[in-house]
Amino acid sequence: MEDPRIQLITGDITRLHVDAIVNAANRSLLGGGGVDGAIHRAAGPRLLEECRELNGCETGEAKITYGYDLPARNVIHTVGPVWRGGTHNEKELLASCYLNSLRLAVENQCKTIAFPNISTGIYGFPKDLAARTAIGAVRDFLSQDKTLKEVYFICFFEENYQLYKDLLW
Ligand code: ADP
Repeated sequence: MEDPRIQLITGDITRLHVDAIVNAANRSLLGGGGVDGAIHRAAGPRLLEECRELNGCETGEAKITYGYDLPARNVIHTVGPVWRGGTHNEKELLASCYLNSLRLAVENQCKTIAFPNISTGIYGFPKDLAARTAIGAVRDFLSQDKTLKEVYFICFFEENYQLYKDLLW
């Protein structure tokens, strides 16, 4: 049965009023293109200042900062795997991004969290496999957690929205 806490929406993650938005960052945590660039632009320069103190992040791991000028209180920065054909642990690393981000959210008293489609942009992860992996990881986590109230998958592109819709319902 579907967990009613999982929500699917389209739009721009930087506009969401949630406790935490997740950033698909790179290992430097010093900003980049795609959703990372959009989050840094919307949060303002204090986000980069805080990120400089974090000394980067390994693939599959996650680190938390404040959201500054964003409506979201926190940003959870996670580093998705670059797709290299599927034989480099990409699926497990992507699942770890979701699980570690959720763990960090709970540790920081976040009740609502929104995920972009990690690794499916510049990092080239196949969208269908990424959606299945993301949904599987979130469902696993929620089956053990009672504190989170809402977990949003926010799709920037219609193609991803349709994929998630078909997998979730
Ligand atoms: P990665 O390097 O992990 O592939 P990208 O930023 O290139 O990261 O893409 C990750 C996903 O974020 C893609 O599906 C992309 O369409 C989406 N995205 C880009 N900008 C935004 C935004 N402002 N809000 C939500 N999702 C976004």
